[in-house]
Amino acid sequence: MSDNPQTDENATQTPVDGEKMVFQAEVNQLLQLMIHSLYSNQEIFLRELISNGSDACDKLRFEAIEDSSLLEADTELRMTISVDEDAKTVTISDNGIGMNRDEVIANIGTIAKSGTKQFLESLTGDQKTDAKLIGQFGVGFYSAFVVADSVVLKTRKAGEAADQGVQWTSDASGGYTLAAVDMAERGTQITLSIKEDASEFINAHRLRGIVKKYSDHITFPIMMMGEAPPPPPPAEGEEEADVVAEQAKLEQVNAASALWTRPKSSIKDEEYQDFYKQVCNDYEDALTWSHNKVEGNQEYTSLLYIPKKAPFDLYDGNFRNNGIKLFVQRVFIMDEAEKLMPRYMRFVRGLVDSNDLPLNVSREILQGNKIIDAIRGASVKRVLGMLEKLAEKQPEDYDVFWKEFGACLKEAPGEDFGNKEQVAKLYRFDTTNAEKAGELTGLDDYIARMKVGQDKIFYITADGYQAAKNSPHMEIFRDKGIEVLLMHDRVDEWMMSYLHEYSEKSFVSIAKGDLDLTAIEGVDAESEEDKAEKEKKAADVAPTIERIKTVLAETTSDVRVSTRLTSSPACVVMGEHDMALHMQQLLKQAGHELPSTKPVLEVNPTHPILDLMDKEQDDDRFGDWAHLLLDQALLADGGQLEDSAGFVKRMNEMFLALTSTSDK
Ligand code: ADP
Repeated sequence: MSDNPQTDENATQTPVDGEKMVFQAEVNQLLQLMIHSLYSNQEIFLRELISNGSDACDKLRFEAIEDSSLLEADTELRMTISVDEDAKTVTISDNGIGMNRDEVIANIGTIAKSGTKQFLESLTGDQKTDAKLIGQFGVGFYSAFVVADSVVLKTRKAGEAADQGVQWTSDASGGYTLAAVDMAERGTQITLSIKEDASEFINAHRLRGIVKKYSDHITFPIMMMGEAPPPPPPAEGEEEADVVAEQAKLEQVNAASALWTRPKSSIKDEEYQDFYKQVCNDYEDALTWSHNKVEGNQEYTSLLYIPKKAPFDLYDGNFRNNGIKLFVQRVFIMDEAEKLMPRYMRFVRGLVDSNDLPLNVSREILQGNKIIDAIRGASVKRVLGMLEKLAEKQPEDYDVFWKEFGACLKEAPGEDFGNKEQVAKLYRFDTTNAEKAGELTGLDDYIARMKVGQDKIFYITADGYQAAKNSPHMEIFRDKGIEVLLMHDRVDEWMMSYLHEYSEKSFVSIAKGDLDLTAIEGVDAESEEDKAEKEKKAADVAPTIERIKTVLAETTSDVRVSTRLTSSPACVVMGEHDMALHMQQLLKQAGHELPSTKPVLEVNPTHPILDLMDKEQDDDRFGDWAHLLLDQALLADGGQLEDSAGFVKRMNEMFLALTSTSDK
């Protein structure tokens, strides 16, 4: 965070006592929002500050692996909470890494995180929703102002001299002051002057309860004075002895057990859920989880959770995948889930604790590391197994999962060739078999319903459910009762370019390539007469098709008789390996250059328009008909017309011509 430009702008070389600094505009906005949106959930300030303290201890423990002198003589990392009823203050301190002056400015006066703007924009004004967003976003420190009028933060960085302490003071009214202070102990101490409407928090018993509720599993001890009656006030000159007496009464409030190290059978569901909420910073329970201890060649434990809700920026290109924490022998190392999970599983949260990696493992070492690769491979299988089980045993929960994260899984075929089949098993799609949108089906169920002789999985991609369902390509399938999967997510077209088969059945887009349904029972059960009739129609229409071909030579690659249409006059068909029209449209709008692929125009010889065209002697009028045929087929397929005004003009002329003929 120290690379934030604000640091350079605001930093001066020597700390000046009482120096006034102005908050970055976003901080102000955020502060005001927090104060107003979180007043019904004030207690979370403690969780947030403890979580920061715990991170600071983690950071120091990690850095001390390389340089143990950083710990000075104070090797037991911990947090302490104290209450001063007279002064109406609560103080939360940690002996973690601490901050130097520049870091205080960079971290506490600005929001250096990318995506802050987005976060602010995504706030709804609804307290409950916003509180969740704030939790997800983890803008923790400022939550202090939900309960405090003013906050004094004193901090001294590990490894620096006692006179390098910094004091930061703010009453949330637009800015803060900095001052140099002496601090004998490293770490950070935050003193909150509690607001009148939050006086319930000037109470050790209440704070204890909050710690138990939210921070029980924090792996560092959280200390508070015991609940025994307070010691008598010290007589003068007794300070030294008194401090010793007080220290002796500090008690650990949290259980601080690394939950994942306990045997599965000893952990209640509720404990798993509490742990999830604390470690993964979620307000809601997880949907499901998987806890595994692996022994043998490799020793590690993984505890992986599937959340109920997707973070608001999950589908952003810049989404940082830090849902999985890496521990080595119970020591937190880093949030570097990118190495532990493929991108398409960026929704998974939890942790991996390895016994084999060295404690001083760096990001560089993780890259291409055999141990990490093995853990990653096995974890992906675990997640897939967990989802399969969820789909089978708790289909309603699986629906929740699919709604939130399905689009992530659809990235898998392009990313994880080896697990394609297992991932595809988890897919759910709209289908022509269902009454309405949202009644999804899986591929196994589709296959189970396939007709005798059908060996392909038929699908269509479109930019919406209705467009897919009502596409002219669907006509023959509707007629013959052959089920078609309706894919209308943006990612579907891309996904299908990587997913060619499932369970040894190939996927076939009903809008692409040649269509041959004759092997399917019931499709070709036409009488000889019907067949002969069809062939005759096709022969009759051949000259018309030749004429259309000439007119549309520039814009189509071929014109032919359709086997798909039963009621529409025409449709466009893309080559088997071409991108669907609606997708081409989308990419073009986004500024991508695409090779132009000309569609095939298929016409329905039984449609009366073809008869009319056959009789049309006037070449100009015939040209208009041909263009109309192509344009309406493009429109029905979600394409956009290059000359939509021309289309409308031709259509109107045609109307008028038809009415005048019928008047005669
Ligand atoms: P987050 O913790 O999500 O990064 P915060 O606003 O809570 O957001 O904190 C901003 C930054 O301030 C932290 O990332 C950390 O660098 C620093 N910070 C906050 N509290 C402490 C602390 N107790 N000790 C050291 N650094 C801290």
